[in-house]
Parts: sequence; structure tokens; C-alpha cells
Amino acid sequence: MKMYLLYYGVTYVDKGLVLTEGKDLGKVIPTPIWGALIDTGSERVLVDTGMNPVHISDPDATFRGTDLSGIIKPVLHDEDLASSRIKSCGVMPEQIDYVINTHFHFDHCGGNLFFPQADFVVQKEHYEWALQSEQCPKRDFNLPGTKWKLVEGPCTLLPGIELFPTPGHVPGHQSVVVYLEQTGPVIITGDAIFLEETMEDNAPVTAFDADLYHESIMKLCELQKKIKGQIFIAHEQEKWDQWKHAPEWYD
Ligand SMILES: [Zn+2]
Repeated sequence: MKMYLLYYGVTYVDKGLVLTEGKDLGKVIPTPIWGALIDTGSERVLVDTGMNPVHISDPDATFRGTDLSGIIKPVLHDEDLASSRIKSCGVMPEQIDYVINTHFHFDHCGGNLFFPQADFVVQKEHYEWALQSEQCPKRDFNLPGTKWKLVEGPCTLLPGIELFPTPGHVPGHQSVVVYLEQTGPVIITGDAIFLEETMEDNAPVTAFDADLYHESIMKLCELQKKIKGQIFIAHEQEKWDQWKHAPEWYD
């Protein structure tokens, strides 16, 4: 099994407003947007799909006229699209069997439209919440003809690929555990852990439910210890820079 980490562009955000509730207000930091392609040998699974291509020519497409306009600034190029990135790994969009969305914020599901043939895997709780929530652009995930595989709680998608609910950032958020032969187990946290500092005790977090967010971090850390896993967190530039990026892979 191979896992490729795919770069999907960047957003510049006001850290204190978007990530670390009230701490470092006004400090603008780059947050890399990324996903993963997992090739089991017989199936190809994509974890998250990055931003919608509308942001290439219109960076403020999602947030114009909202409270977050000017607070989250996307920068997206053609080569950052999920459909382009996977080609650098020799995989065409129509070869993707499953797309796992950790959740439906605009930086995690905006490329769903490139994979109409895939089965989309998301926690049922999140799907139902997102349909009602203004936080999740319907343009990105509520596409006609989508084949949904709505799951409830922890489950195994394929041998070596497990889903692990990590609510708090949003209801029904999920993380992904991948058991790689050489690298060992890895945990793709999604937005269950934004930054390295998010793992510190009682770190301030911007979340739908901060208590639940902290509880999910504790569970992830317990899981990490149990399986001796490596954690890949969501939006830390310094961490991202240290990892191997597609077309290199982890196996
Ligand atoms: Zn995110």
C-alpha cells in the first residue's frame, strides 16, 4: 500500500480568529491545504479534495459577504487541484474508487466534483449537519448523482484503512488511520488537530464544540500510543514542509 500526500494550495488566515480562538488575534499565518491518495494495489482512495477550482480566479468566492471575508484568503493554482495532483502519481480522476471526506468545510471537499464515479465516505452525522449549516458550501459537496456511503462511528473501509470519528471541530468530523507496511500506522487527523500547539493542554481552539474538540484530541493521542502511529495534522506549515510530498510516497 502506498500513501501520497497531495498539496492543494494554501490559505492565509487570521490565526486568532480561525484556529486558536482569541490567541494571536491579527496574526496572519499560511495554512497548507492537503489531502492523501492511498493506493492499496487494487483500490484507490482519496482523503479530502482541497478547494473548489472557482478560487483560482476568484479567491474570495466562498467568503465574500460573510464574516470570514478577508480573514481566510485562499491561494489556489491549476496544479493544486486534486484532479491535477493525483496525475503526478500516475492516477487519473476516474480511477478513484473512494473519496473520504473528513468533513465538508470548503478546504476539504471543494474538489469532490472531479470524482463523480467514486463512492463518497462521510459520517452520517456530519452529512446531515452540513446540509443545514452555512459553514459548508453546498456547491462543494451536495452534488447531483453523488454516491454516498454514510457511516456511523468507527469502521474499516478497506483492509488497512480505518475511519475514526473525531467530533468537535464540527459535528461528525472524522479522521483516517492507514496501516502502512514500512512506515507503520499513520493517522490523518483532518481538522481534529489544526496545529502542533493545538495538542497542548487546554489549547485555545476555534471549534463548534471546544470541549468535544479536546476530547477527540485525547482519543487520537490514546490511539496513537496504542498503535504506535505517526500523526499527520491538518494545517501546520512547518510540519507539512518536513513530510514527503507526491510524487514521492510513504509505503
Ligand atoms: Zn481545514
